[in-house]
Amino acid sequence: MTTDELIALAKAFDAHAGCARCSALACKGWESMPGGFDRSSLTCVGTLRDAGEEDPTLAEYHPTGTNSWSAEAPIALGWFPYNRCDVWKCVDCGRPFLRYTEYGGYYTDERIREVQAGLVQQPPLDQA
Ligand SMILES: [Zn+2]
Repeated sequence: MTTDELIALAKAFDAHAGCARCSALACKGWESMPGGFDRSSLTCVGTLRDAGEEDPTLAEYHPTGTNSWSAEAPIALGWFPYNRCDVWKCVDCGRPFLRYTEYGGYYTDERIREVQAGLVQQPPLDQA
């Protein structure tokens, strides 16, 4: 999925029309997936992963001093963790989300973040 496609998906969702089904997941920044969540509430609509990239970068893009948990952090396609994300949306209201799995030394953590159109961008990877 391209930057434009992701922005279009986010703009197609009317933020005032969120539904009860996905409201527990609504999060401006990354959060761990809630344990009791009904997974059938989301449907996968695409991926941000580059199938031709075997070793996507671990570099993060934070030009304005945000960190990976910030609600205002850029959704920077090609950068970590967006280069590992799939794109999902609520089956009822269309609220768009990104999901990926964080692999730590002794754990895995499934994470989710709501897509805000205004944060989506694709900065060149040499702008670290
Ligand atoms: Zn919903």
